[in-house]
Amino acid sequence: MSIVREDYRWTDAPGAATATESLGMAVIDLGAIAHNTELLRSRCSGELMAVVKADGFGHGVLPVATTALAHGATWLGVTSLAEALHLRAAGITAPVLSWLHLPDEDFAPAIGGDIDLSVSSVEHLDGIAASADRAGKCAYVHLKVDTGLSRNGSPPELWPGLVTAARRLERAGLVRVRGLWSHLISGNHPGDPSVGVQSSRFEEACALAAARGLDPRVRHLANSAAVLTAPATHLDLARAGIALYGVEPLAGHESGLRPAMTLRTRANMVRRVPGGTGVSYDHEYVTSRDTTLALVPLGFADGVPRLAGERAEVLLGGRRCRVAGRVAMDQFVADAGDAPVRIGDEVVLFGPGEQSEPTVAEWARWARTNPHEILTGIGNRVPRRYLPATPGV
Ligand SMILES: *Cc1c(COP(=O)(O)O)cnc(C)c1O
Repeated sequence: MSIVREDYRWTDAPGAATATESLGMAVIDLGAIAHNTELLRSRCSGELMAVVKADGFGHGVLPVATTALAHGATWLGVTSLAEALHLRAAGITAPVLSWLHLPDEDFAPAIGGDIDLSVSSVEHLDGIAASADRAGKCAYVHLKVDTGLSRNGSPPELWPGLVTAARRLERAGLVRVRGLWSHLISGNHPGDPSVGVQSSRFEEACALAAARGLDPRVRHLANSAAVLTAPATHLDLARAGIALYGVEPLAGHESGLRPAMTLRTRANMVRRVPGGTGVSYDHEYVTSRDTTLALVPLGFADGVPRLAGERAEVLLGGRRCRVAGRVAMDQFVADAGDAPVRIGDEVVLFGPGEQSEPTVAEWARWARTNPHEILTGIGNRVPRRYLPATPGV
């Protein structure tokens, strides 16, 4: 039974996401996306898929997708049919793989748009075949096998049945198996024995598929980290997400990626306070001496992690300042010490790190999470502004 009332219809809130638009912005350097795509492409033995799910990891899916395709990526990866169809509606014709669906979704628009669909079960395969039949067009599918992650992907014991069913539907002209794939458990730990174990399980699954008559164009296993550290996993295609956005997937491993997003705003208020002043909710922060406090108009509704308040820093007045007290929904306070800061001064939460501003990786550590969660958490009311990939264009 559904927990959502049947008669409930989602609507967009009128006038949403405009109130604080001028207060902060995410500047996306498409030159960095271009550079990272080229770098990753040069490290792959096969083709490169730019993973642009979740609105391009928060960077804006269309600018990222077009830039990545112009600089060496040949595939795009998304999670949902809606994301995939959004790319097609924008006129993008490159191969797109979408990988998370319910078996009873209407796949016909995606099949009509030549979207490749991931399949982990016979239920999903049958749902897609039924839509293909209705659409009068063959569906491109990538069969996914679970090689150890225990998330999606066909359990190994059901793989032979899935392969057989797919081959039967190929013969019937309803599907074409274009890909076989799997996902790594610990791609971000180079040398982890699981990488080799999963590679060989994947090879076995591919061999079984070949023995039963499947002839896929692409086999793919690698994520960003594996592109940089595990060449044996590259196969025909590698799926790069976080590295495309310029975050080193392995801490302490410098491969020359350039962070694409800078999150900046301006001090909204500045005041001098004496030592012993409690700051923000519950006064978790108390100034240790006379100091200058600056109000920063971004909060957890904009993706500034509440948990990071105890440790995080921002760049203000040319130097690092501690976040003072708890991050609120729309704002937080920074302790600028004796720096001569004024209302309207730029505050950089994170960026490439070239001017000693914090990086996404630092925010991830402060918030006890990964950089993916920081980037995808940047909220809708933070407008994205783009620096072109080619200066002067
Ligand atoms: C998100 C995702 C990726 C990208 O992973 P990164 O570690 O960010 O490169 C690759 N493959 C799948 C299946 C994903 O869901």
